[in-house]
Amino acid sequence: MIPPARQKPVFRFAPSPNGRLHLGHALSALINADMAKAAGGRLLLRMEDIDIGRCTPEFETAIYDDLTWLGLAWEEPVRRQSEHLDEYRAALKQLIVRGLAYPAFMTRGEVKARAAQSEEQDRPWPRDPDGAPHYPEDDRFLTDSVRRKRIASGERHGWRLDMESAIASIGTALTWAETGDGETGEIAADPAAWGDVVLWRSDAPSSYHLSVTVDDAAQGVTHVVRGLDLFHATSVHRLLQTLLGLPAPRYHHHRLILGKDGRKLSKSQGDTALAELRKAGRTSEEIRRLLGL
Ligand code: GLU
Repeated sequence: MIPPARQKPVFRFAPSPNGRLHLGHALSALINADMAKAAGGRLLLRMEDIDIGRCTPEFETAIYDDLTWLGLAWEEPVRRQSEHLDEYRAALKQLIVRGLAYPAFMTRGEVKARAAQSEEQDRPWPRDPDGAPHYPEDDRFLTDSVRRKRIASGERHGWRLDMESAIASIGTALTWAETGDGETGEIAADPAAWGDVVLWRSDAPSSYHLSVTVDDAAQGVTHVVRGLDLFHATSVHRLLQTLLGLPAPRYHHHRLILGKDGRKLSKSQGDTALAELRKAGRTSEEIRRLLGL
């Protein structure tokens, strides 16, 4: 029998078209491109545009312009999350059927208020690695008939992972292979640190965690290269991959570019956009040098 041809490594850059790209994105895109090239692999581009309210075609076009200016080439067609909602819905359904996801009726504001109230009474409230309060237990213990009634009455709700049951259903410790700028080697995943993560939002379809997990598998991604701000999120991704029977990519979480005040660059805070550097006459070689590449 002829052995199957060794699959080429597959990398992806996955920006959200909800603002202009800045130097932090350039670093991520260029490291992806450089690593793909060094590995003789493929580079894919994915538009993470499920947040329909904030993502626009203009921002998407601007991303193509910026990446082309940086000298990047990627395979077509570009995958757009907004065109794959059925796949995320199918994944959610698998988890619901197995009793691992439940309808969640509380708003983010209500969750925050509940945590603040508890903390005011000197009772610590668990927080996830990003500092957001865990979702309260209330909805997890609702009976099926109450859930059905509330949904039938049109009450707004999202869907959350029953973290405890999900971890118990796997029954084995999860790890991932990491080669990035932080801790490296075989990293122990700690999904419990995130509490009952959101899988489907009431105000936007799907969630970052669910769609990124489904997409990386659908696109055959073998190497996930992204910023260290997503290091801990990998615990959730490994859990979802395992629950959904999807392969585990290797991970490389790279350093972040910080603003003068030490915080992470952000589109919303108006950090210098690549387009402005381009207009100011900077070249992509200068950007590489600026980024220490
Ligand atoms: N869309 C995410 C961002 O722009 C990146 C997600 C990922 O690489 O997993 O921050």
